[in-house]
Amino acid sequence: MNKIKIISFDVEGTLVSHEFSEVLWHEAIPLRYAQKYGISAEQARKTTTEEFEKIGFQGMEWYDAGYWCNHFQLGNPEPIIRSCVDKISYYSEVSEVLSSLAAHFILTVASTVPLYLLAYILKDVDHYFTRIFSATSQYKQLKTPYFYSQVCQTMHVEPDSIVHVGDNWNTDFINPREVGINAFYLDREGGDSVDSLADLTQLESIVLDGANYKK
Ligand SMILES: [Mg+2]
Repeated sequence: MNKIKIISFDVEGTLVSHEFSEVLWHEAIPLRYAQKYGISAEQARKTTTEEFEKIGFQGMEWYDAGYWCNHFQLGNPEPIIRSCVDKISYYSEVSEVLSSLAAHFILTVASTVPLYLLAYILKDVDHYFTRIFSATSQYKQLKTPYFYSQVCQTMHVEPDSIVHVGDNWNTDFINPREVGINAFYLDREGGDSVDSLADLTQLESIVLDGANYKK
């Protein structure tokens, strides 16, 4: 991988655990809903979950806490989001790997999460990244092949100069590969796919030391 210039990272499930989003969507928003409408937390969770599922994860609104606060008429989303920031948890190897890779490559983020939420989520590591790309905020779509081609254009690089890593088989592996990006599938559960990485230190070994990787 001599010509690699940029390493692009997914965020949730790759740099940070899903805990922040789970608490935001399934505890904090329902709690505010329960307070506003005078119902039990359990009933509020059921109602809000039903509404989330009407959109589903293929819809851009799914990822947008501001949309849901507006939809449920809960007022300003900021205090609701802030009540969850203590749940933002980076995986143990993240700081060390980012610090090491930043000495050799341009680091970027490619996420479905809206930019205003990424500002909270990436607060402690954002100094490592040259660019933060949000597919929903900046391109009004999910992480499609077109989104990845736009990332290449914006960064003025050929797709094969980019390595992308993430934990979603379709949006972090299949879609970037479709446009020629070197994508790696991160499977922290340690599945038996020969193409998967178990954590980001394996990516570091591949891009820095040329460790063996079976495509
Ligand atoms: Mg992810």
